[in-house]
Amino acid sequence: MILTANKNGERIWVCHFLSMRGVTMNRLSWDQYFMAQSHLLANRSTCTRLAVGAAIVRDKRIIAGGYNGSISGGVHCIDEGCYVIDGHCVRTIHAEMNAVIQCAKFGVPTQGAELYVTHFPCLQCCKAIIQSGIKVIYYANDYKNHPYAIQLFRDADVEVKRVPFENFFDKEVEHNEDNLVIIANVLKKLEDAGIEQQEITDIYQQAQRLFSNGV
Ligand SMILES: [Zn+2]
Ligand SMILES: [Zn+2]
Repeated sequence: MILTANKNGERIWVCHFLSMRGVTMNRLSWDQYFMAQSHLLANRSTCTRLAVGAAIVRDKRIIAGGYNGSISGGVHCIDEGCYVIDGHCVRTIHAEMNAVIQCAKFGVPTQGAELYVTHFPCLQCCKAIIQSGIKVIYYANDYKNHPYAIQLFRDADVEVKRVPFENFFDKEVEHNEDNLVIIANVLKKLEDAGIEQQEITDIYQQAQRLFSNGV
């Protein structure tokens, strides 16, 4: 199975013809799966200065997610511009902080949890993460890594690992042309086997819509 998009832009799983040809499936690792979630969340950011996403994970399950944004119901930086004091936008709550607060709001324990985040956490988030009991942080991009934050994580026995994000979706787009060729070959065999021409044309058109860029 592969993750792709239908003509409405919805992500869907479809049967992968590569697997029919004995080619090994590229299954996402847990690290890439959760890191992808943090990058998806970053796309909801409303602060124009930096799009950050964070997912809190416990027992291989996402228990909370957050992104850089204003308080609920507040105006957004993307609409009103950032509110900058001393070089920092004070309007937004950081992604990591939002994810931790979401756990507080709904009474979900964070003790011993893991955090997947698009960027190395700032000092304020670093302290909140430590206090929440999160024990492992996976981040994709270095971002002004503050030496004091590094020290605090070390002192608090919080493991910090850099896991660069591999853009899974782009890779699938690259494979799309190959997929169409494979589908065409399979359909040719169906045609040879006597399947109705119209039925084959319909299937091929569906495949084209499925695998064309920008669907
Ligand atoms: Zn802002
Ligand atoms: Zn922060």
